[in-house]
Amino acid sequence: MFKAQTVIFDVIEKAKIKDPSQPEFHQAVEEVLSTLEPTVTKHPEFVKAKIYERIVEPDRVILFRVPWVDDNGEVQVNRGFRVEFNNAIGPYKGGLRFHPSVNLGILKFLGFEQVFKNALTTLPMGGGKGGSDFDPKGKSDDEVMRFCQAFMRELYRHIGPDRDVPAGDIGVGGREIGYMYGYYKKIVNEHTGVLTGKGIEYGGSLIRPEATGYGTVYFAAEMLATRNMDFKGKKVAVSGSGNVSQFAIQKVNHLGGIAMSMSDSNGTIIDEKGISGDKWNFLMELKNKRRGRIKEYAEKYKVPFYEGKSVWDVIRDEGVKIDIALPCATQNELDASHANGLVKAGCYSVSEGANMPSNLEAIHIYQNNNFLYGPAKAANAGGVAVSGLEMSQNSLRLLWTREEVDNRLLNIMKSIHQESLHAAEFYGKKGDYLMGANIAGFLKVANAMLAYGVV
Ligand code: NAP
Repeated sequence: MFKAQTVIFDVIEKAKIKDPSQPEFHQAVEEVLSTLEPTVTKHPEFVKAKIYERIVEPDRVILFRVPWVDDNGEVQVNRGFRVEFNNAIGPYKGGLRFHPSVNLGILKFLGFEQVFKNALTTLPMGGGKGGSDFDPKGKSDDEVMRFCQAFMRELYRHIGPDRDVPAGDIGVGGREIGYMYGYYKKIVNEHTGVLTGKGIEYGGSLIRPEATGYGTVYFAAEMLATRNMDFKGKKVAVSGSGNVSQFAIQKVNHLGGIAMSMSDSNGTIIDEKGISGDKWNFLMELKNKRRGRIKEYAEKYKVPFYEGKSVWDVIRDEGVKIDIALPCATQNELDASHANGLVKAGCYSVSEGANMPSNLEAIHIYQNNNFLYGPAKAANAGGVAVSGLEMSQNSLRLLWTREEVDNRLLNIMKSIHQESLHAAEFYGKKGDYLMGANIAGFLKVANAMLAYGVV
């Protein structure tokens, strides 16, 4: 007879030994696997079929050269990736990230998380992730276009509406999706649902840009409701100022909360009166049209700007009081010192819009302080869920209304919340959304893998 702890420990250790230079991937494997222990004893068939070992190995990794020419006529060379992690329950699905920090370990962590997240949405989507170490910041539109075309010149042969359907992520928004889709359509000569996050004129879905941010707030609202609370009058800290943050802030405003912070890689602004109305319109123009820095918001609205500090640094160091935290920037934004800062700030709920924004120590502090903690794979699944709905609309050749898509999004977020809650309670850890989400997502994928035999 095996010991559950040993089975899990061995898988985590092997992942670390095999790829010693992928710390973010190890962190994601440990975060998921360490909550799956109760499934080991209940499902000896998974152990026998080595599902735990198999699920941490991607189906395949594609790595390629991306040469392109900049505005000065110089040849630039970047690296492109697509990690096709697991297609047990549907075609690979997951975003593309363009950021100088991108490497294989980061994309494996993102692809691995995506497998469970996509399973939670109830839609038939496998998990994948890709991107490049290209930095769109400071590049002209023409340079971004030439890069996107060069990237698609290789990627096109690996993707397809029933095979692998990428979307956006950090550094990949509507502009980049437009350039990549345009080039795909040109060389394959097909107008088909091969990317999501497309413009509404050429096959996109209404509410897709809003979906991740809205979903993160919907998930938080569901968690608050379990304690008879809501967003009205609550002080909400949001990090980042990109796609997820922008629409998280808008939904907080809709629900009567006060969204009082934003950041980018240069610093943080705090606006105690809330980022709403004209101020939110200014943010949208600043970030999506002028592609400027968040410091300009502080200059225009005469609020404090903290150079070089993250939102969580400021809350920890300046004694800002908040109720709810929505980390929406990037991985590992919050460590133990930040989590302790949140406790001191009076915070009692964290809903993760970004992927893996809290490290394992920070998560333990939330749990020890009875936070309502919505882990990324549940709380930010709204984006990929509406991507799934975009795929459905493309197949049906239909366009649903905003209300229809938003309603479906809300219902999916409610169902993810319920599923996570039930799984946690069933496996003996009531209120532990992290365990609940991991187990609920895992069981679906594991059962499908088992059905296929050893493939
Ligand atoms: P985005 O539009 O590119 O915005 C990212 C924001 O985070 C920007 O304000 C950026 O500042 C900041 N940021 C990124 N890396 C940073 C770093 N290392 N240090 C400090 N600030 C940093 O990207 P997004 O789509 O909103 O994605 C944000 C997060 O949500 C990511 O973790 C992503 O994986 C996750 N997510 C996104 C979606 C989606 O649908 N887009 C879905 C699920 C999860 P700068 O502009 O200065 O870099």
